[in-house]
Amino acid sequence: MATSLETPKPKARKPKPQLDPDLCKGCLRCIDSCNHHCLVPGHDIDPRTGLIPIELHLEACTACGLCFDACPEPYGLRPERLEEIPTGQPEFERPTDADHLKRPPRPKPVDIPDVLRELPLGATLVLKGNHASAIGALLAGCRHFYGYPITPSTEGAELLAKLLPKLNGIFLQAVSEVATVNLMYGTAGAGLRTMTFTSSPGFSLMLEGVSYMIGAELPAVFVNVMRGGPGLGNIAPEQADIKLACRGLGHGNTHAIVFAPSTPQEMLDLTRQAFELAFQYRNPVVLLADGYLGQMTGRVELPKALVQPGLPKWAVAGDAAHRDNLISSIFLAEADLEAHNRHLDDKYARMAREARAESWQCEDAEVVIVACNTPARMARGAVAELRQRGVKAGLFRPITLWPFPIDALAEALSGASRLVVVEASAGQLEDELRLAASHAGLALPPLAAVRHSGGVLPQQDEIVAGALAALAREVTAPTASKSADPCDCSDPECGCGDEE
Ligand code: SF4
Ligand code: SF4
Repeated sequence: MATSLETPKPKARKPKPQLDPDLCKGCLRCIDSCNHHCLVPGHDIDPRTGLIPIELHLEACTACGLCFDACPEPYGLRPERLEEIPTGQPEFERPTDADHLKRPPRPKPVDIPDVLRELPLGATLVLKGNHASAIGALLAGCRHFYGYPITPSTEGAELLAKLLPKLNGIFLQAVSEVATVNLMYGTAGAGLRTMTFTSSPGFSLMLEGVSYMIGAELPAVFVNVMRGGPGLGNIAPEQADIKLACRGLGHGNTHAIVFAPSTPQEMLDLTRQAFELAFQYRNPVVLLADGYLGQMTGRVELPKALVQPGLPKWAVAGDAAHRDNLISSIFLAEADLEAHNRHLDDKYARMAREARAESWQCEDAEVVIVACNTPARMARGAVAELRQRGVKAGLFRPITLWPFPIDALAEALSGASRLVVVEASAGQLEDELRLAASHAGLALPPLAAVRHSGGVLPQQDEIVAGALAALAREVTAPTASKSADPCDCSDPECGCGDEE
């Protein structure tokens, strides 16, 4: 039985904070949490981090613990280790310096894989292309959208503005396209799925950030619903950014997989796949639609599963396991940057396996029509009409513009004597095709072009006329790679033949 003569046990002390200065990033979030002004901004740069850690003045500290919760760093500001308190001593002993540097072991980051969740079979939907792409992003697990509205892409952002808050997601209308891409950089760095909808001039503004993201190997999806250019241009459909997406993603050694959908169904399917490939290769993926496709309504079947995203081990996820991860595109030593560029080149070479295309009626075609996006729809009608007229025509539709599906094109051209490139731009698709053929050593048959720009789309009847004219045109060897468009060239070194 207890008596009043027993010695009372000393009261357990609550721990005061201790700081590992090299793990404090100087964010100052903890300062306001302390009513006793025990935490103050520091003045000295920590040579190990280049950052300025806070300073502790704990004379008035009541060990309330509020500052621990305010610190986002797993080991920045943390409680003194209670096991350092000698049992039975009412006075608290501060840990020695050596103890202070001891840290708990950190867990190693691991890849947490995506999980596919079955979707109940739903009815076929009728959707605009922009809406289909937004739904594809949601089904791919994207919950972070940033963007600046621009016609003709805005409906995609509008739908996500309605849906993301209901899904615990983030929709943020940024102050500009430059802000957009940098918000995407941060979110992608945390290993989360992020995207934007934009249109040609907006995409141009994002390119510096895209280059940074490629350099830092960050996954994200850019849906660019192309419109007429150059400059402000207009809001009508044009394939104005093929060159930009395939060859000009900011400064430096930059490439990204570029999809070219041509139906609302593909807007959904390729947006989903874009997220998958972005994370597979740790690289942005560009979906190049056009203004007509973004606004076009069509039948869309939902996939059988949606993605519950995992977390890659490289993410800067803000917890102890990911504390050592660093996302950066800065390599100050020349040799380091060259090595990084070689690493990117190896990755780009691996991306070649993602080349995709559709060939339609090309098996016996004497004239192959190449087109993508909305012009591919007119080209398909032209092929059907030519077949009705007894002309063996076929359609080759690149689904990826980078990497260009040159092997599939070679197969489609195996029996063809003429090639017609149909596009809503002043030759950007033809340039990609010619460059890919040149790299692959593929000799092209005589090539004719049906082109419009400024928002005017090639029509079925002029594609038919272009194909018939190409077939009727006499070809004299050796002009196998010469465009039907006159070169107007006076350079005897050019090799086009027009200088004669
Ligand atoms: S434990 Fe409480 S009193 Fe002590 S420094 Fe933190 S917030 Fe201030
Ligand atoms: S909240 Fe943490 S990381 Fe930020 S200044 Fe305070 S101790 Fe440092």
